[in-house]
Amino acid sequence: MHELSIVQDLLKVCDTNATEQGASSVKRVEIQDIIVRCCQCGREGTIMANEFVCPMCGSRELVVTKGEDLILMRLELEK
Ligand SMILES: [Zn+2]
Repeated sequence: MHELSIVQDLLKVCDTNATEQGASSVKRVEIQDIIVRCCQCGREGTIMANEFVCPMCGSRELVVTKGEDLILMRLELEK
């Protein structure tokens, strides 16, 4: 699904950045608020920027309904 792949792409970008800069892990990612809908329980609302899981049921099957022009605002890396 297109919307879901955006989230996965963002996580991939973070990982790639961390690797390129020799960081051991991504410490924190700050992005703009996005609205997602859960494919499992149907909950719709904002999610924690760096936690792409449904706060209701814990599913990762989320569809971005608003803010799909996801912008990577800030990336903190752990060295
Ligand atoms: Zn859910």
